[in-house]
Amino acid sequence: MSALSSMKNPLVPGDATRPHAEPLQCPRCRSNEHLDLDTIESIEPHAGELLVFVSYTCSRCEVSRAHTAAFHDVAGVLNRNGTVSGLLQFGGQYFHCGEPMQFAQSSVRSVYAPMSTEDVDDGLLDVYVKTRVIQCRCGFRMELPA
Ligand SMILES: [Zn+2]
Ligand SMILES: [Zn+2]
Repeated sequence: MSALSSMKNPLVPGDATRPHAEPLQCPRCRSNEHLDLDTIESIEPHAGELLVFVSYTCSRCEVSRAHTAAFHDVAGVLNRNGTVSGLLQFGGQYFHCGEPMQFAQSSVRSVYAPMSTEDVDDGLLDVYVKTRVIQCRCGFRMELPA
């Protein structure tokens, strides 16, 4: 009988500063090539690299796991599966290149923006504040409804 010896791990009190992240890997075939991500959840604020709580299933072995992982690893698996084109949304945030996308506030310009320095009509400005643009450090941008 091969019981899971790792189940004995006790929770260590006082270790709340840094959640322990594990790599995404099927415990049976020891690869991450066949993983289907089931859920991705944000966890409590933490220092350092962005971590999330994931659950996934190896489609080949039909083994499921759930644990905290580096978001970068999660994005890598997602991107390879081609289910999303590098863009991911959860916890009210959008992610690209494995990083949370940032609001691009001042550089927003539409084709209707006047190129002159004349004062812009208030009614026209109103259009701008109704959309929010977020961008990734790679230059990928997308517009969100306000
Ligand atoms: Zn497997
Ligand atoms: Zn990007």
